[in-house]
Amino acid sequence: MVTKNNMNPKTLLDYYEINPKKSLGQNFLHDPGTLEKIVAAAEIRPDDTVLEVGPGTGMLTERLAPVAKKVIAVEIDGRLKPLLDIQFEPYSNIEVVYQDFLTTNVTELVGEGDFVVVANVPYYITSAILRHILESDHRPRRLVLTMQVEVAERLIATPDDMSVLAVSVQFYGIPRIVNRIKPAAFWPRPDVDSAVVLIDVYDQPPVDVPSEKLFFRVVRAGFGQKRKQLRNSLGSGLSIKSEVAGNLLEQAGIDPRRRAETLTLEEWAALTRAVALNLP
Ligand code: SAM
Repeated sequence: MVTKNNMNPKTLLDYYEINPKKSLGQNFLHDPGTLEKIVAAAEIRPDDTVLEVGPGTGMLTERLAPVAKKVIAVEIDGRLKPLLDIQFEPYSNIEVVYQDFLTTNVTELVGEGDFVVVANVPYYITSAILRHILESDHRPRRLVLTMQVEVAERLIATPDDMSVLAVSVQFYGIPRIVNRIKPAAFWPRPDVDSAVVLIDVYDQPPVDVPSEKLFFRVVRAGFGQKRKQLRNSLGSGLSIKSEVAGNLLEQAGIDPRRRAETLTLEEWAALTRAVALNLP
């Protein structure tokens, strides 16, 4: 029997005759120091529920369970069930839901109370996972997510290098990189370096917008055409003439010749307010 004493992802998976699937982003983190840092960054309180996306072989989950009230882990790969049933036997506070996380209802999963998200996310759906969590009715207090370093850097971008992803995440919280991880910390080794991103979520968005839906419609329209002047990309994204788009931008105090990447969150909010006032 493979036990925790000789536990590493490769030994465990070999024992259960499971081959890691690249298509599911299965690179399992086994470096103990890195796992401890991730748990420490989450600052979990004894009353917290922790939501984990993709427990894999459970090495992170087992470090979360002793410090949380409950861990709810959502895993798409049902092949891992026999392994996780044994690994999690000593813990009465771990619940595994075998489902595609993107089809879950986060509020129903975690209930009413405070929760944090800790996950070494499958890299192929990092943005979708972020959106699924941050756009849910009940948002976590904090997220600690291990992701590809390039994506982490995009999240913490500042005006001049903004993207839809950066605006979306920074609308909901403050992202920062707290650790960088080399491929050797994982098995199988990924092709890229990784980073741990901590996002402290706001109680209320930091800018005033008439509706979140309209805010994101305006942002997506603005970024719709790369490297174009805003009056053109906004015009085409909102199906209005570029002169009308130019007027809206001026009303929001933004030079219509600027590019979407240069706008601050407050400028996107001002533009959304101008759109709400002027367009049906
Ligand atoms: N947490 C483990 C660790 O740190 O070693 C595993 C991380 S591995 C990068 C990503 C995990 O997410 C895998 O177990 C994979 O099967 C799972 N996964 C992939 N897509 C998923 C999805 N849509 N919903 C839930 N889990 C998913």
